[in-house]
Amino acid sequence: MGFDIVVANGTVVTATDTFKADVAISGEKVVALAQSLPRDNATRVIDAGGNYVLPGGIDVHTHLDMPFGGTTSSDDFETGTRAALFGGTTTLIDFAIQYKGQSLRTAFDAWMEKASRKAIGDYGFHCIITDLPDARLEEMNQLVREGVTSFKLFMAYPGVFMLDDATIFKALRTTGRNGAMVCMHAENGGAIDVIVRQALAEGKTAPKYHALTRPTTAEAEATARAIALAEMAGSPLYIVHLSCNDALEKVREARDRGLPIYAETCPQYLYLSLENFDVPGFEGAKYVFTPPLREKWHQEKLWQGLQHDHLQVVSTDHCPFCFKEQKELGKDDFTKIPNGGPGIEHRMSLVYSGGVAGGRFNVNRFVEIVSTTPAKLFGLYPRKGTLAVGSDADLVVFNPKRQHTISARTHHMRVDYSMFEGITVTGMPEVVLSRGRVLVEGEAFHGKPGTGNFLKRATYSGV
Ligand SMILES: [Zn+2]
Repeated sequence: MGFDIVVANGTVVTATDTFKADVAISGEKVVALAQSLPRDNATRVIDAGGNYVLPGGIDVHTHLDMPFGGTTSSDDFETGTRAALFGGTTTLIDFAIQYKGQSLRTAFDAWMEKASRKAIGDYGFHCIITDLPDARLEEMNQLVREGVTSFKLFMAYPGVFMLDDATIFKALRTTGRNGAMVCMHAENGGAIDVIVRQALAEGKTAPKYHALTRPTTAEAEATARAIALAEMAGSPLYIVHLSCNDALEKVREARDRGLPIYAETCPQYLYLSLENFDVPGFEGAKYVFTPPLREKWHQEKLWQGLQHDHLQVVSTDHCPFCFKEQKELGKDDFTKIPNGGPGIEHRMSLVYSGGVAGGRFNVNRFVEIVSTTPAKLFGLYPRKGTLAVGSDADLVVFNPKRQHTISARTHHMRVDYSMFEGITVTGMPEVVLSRGRVLVEGEAFHGKPGTGNFLKRATYSGV
């Protein structure tokens, strides 16, 4: 009996090894890796000669079909997972939001409803908790049993998402016991609100004031406080969208002490800076997201953080709003600009280009950052995040030499601009497989809505 697919002649890359091998797939799984596999009986042979064969990318921070500020993020689970697949990302973890007064289960059900009939790639959920009276702590354990093994908490956005320290501490004590991970949005929301109100009172309403009213110190303070609360509670902690060196220092310090503290950054913080606000009129709104862009020197610090494992993951925080009609809601007041930017499609290429082609780290570290560590931290490993016998056949045939200039004219995200317009990257996916399905071949797409699987995730077991 032959294999369904043999990906032949490529260089297989995992977080630890690089070797020439053929990869055989039967059904949804990788069933063999060897220097040379019989191809005669294979239904299909994909020639990966001259290219890398990587485990599919895992983006653990996306907001598809998410209501925010009176509008909804412009990619849904169909267009979002499609764009992700074009970029080599085969798995997403999105955020299901619990609104005040609701059970956590209601959030999960609502997001399953959004995703199940539309998603093309595989997906899981973190649950955003906005309201956690003691009576609901047990609901965290229930969700963990359902495979929702991480919770997002906010130290910012008072009155909307923000939780007080006592509530955060109780949540962390619960995850310390049940093995779930807390993902923290670390910014001092109270202080930021005071600065924002003062700016508005002084007539400072342009988009750049969104960035200028959210100092790096507010992020560093909250990061340190979150780490202290997690340490006292005996829980691991994952800091989301870390944007600046000040906060990075807090994470590094905690990790040096051996604490299970992890952090991600995002391509926008590696490639963009406050200088992006030097554009005419209201165009700066394209770069309004939270935490905001920082002074340019932080970029190199974040790259170094990735290089030295002070940062472990790059996710996108993909939360697209069209410039026309959506971002424009904040034309006269930066606080009314929907917060978020599009990035789901270009994460792999941007990290490869700046990281590996840019000489900052090797291709194994690249795979670790964009796939293996996300899988390990969020209970998907070794089903996802590596290429091994028995793993899901999520594969990317990645051409390390192909160059591409990013543009809204050619991207697949459902949004009318690109944050990375005009940036040329080196390294692009050629063929993308999800559970043995060949979904992307160059510009051709073969995926069907509703064929992505919900991923019931395991609890955290260390990295
Ligand atoms: Zn986010």
